[in-house]
Amino acid sequence: MEFPSKLLEKAVEEVSQLPGIGKRTALRLMLHILKQPEEQTLHLAEALLKLRKDIIFCKSCHNISDLEICDICANDSRDHQTICVVEDVRDVMALENTQIFKGIYHVLGGKISPIDGVGPSQLNIQTLVEKVKAGEVKEIIFALSSTMEGDTTNFYIYKQVKDYGVVTSTIARGIAVGDELEYADEVTLGRSLVHRVPFENAFKAV
Ligand SMILES: [Zn+2]
Repeated sequence: MEFPSKLLEKAVEEVSQLPGIGKRTALRLMLHILKQPEEQTLHLAEALLKLRKDIIFCKSCHNISDLEICDICANDSRDHQTICVVEDVRDVMALENTQIFKGIYHVLGGKISPIDGVGPSQLNIQTLVEKVKAGEVKEIIFALSSTMEGDTTNFYIYKQVKDYGVVTSTIARGIAVGDELEYADEVTLGRSLVHRVPFENAFKAV
């Protein structure tokens, strides 16, 4: 790509480092910014800098927060002995949107993936294990993605906590609401059969 300006090239180069954004999209975004009032670009730049500089990760669950302890962990009406283990903040947001879970979370910050060079020590696993060892946890619900990395991570944590009398479970994996059975892949369909639920429980919220 030939650029008429080094400044434009540099901006496109930086923006295209973001996931899911190629050089063409980056160029379109930068040309859009050039059409905007300068003040709007300043607000964008300030918001990004402030986000990067001032964001805090909750000391207890590692969720993104504006305070040392996030709103969820600080909420006394939630069940602090039931911990839902997730990969990142997007999963917390998705689960919170269901308004069903009343426990707290533990955000790992990724999943074990040797191919990507991510080992257990790079994730927030130790703090979870310490909570379990301290007797603060009754139940752990694994809510990681249904991939080999997700399963590896679940199993790694399970091995660390299984001797401390904590109940462990994974979220159900099966046919999505509204899905036609014939279009489900065989792994999902097989799991749905193995993890079938009593009919009376099938429509319960929790
Ligand atoms: Zn928290």
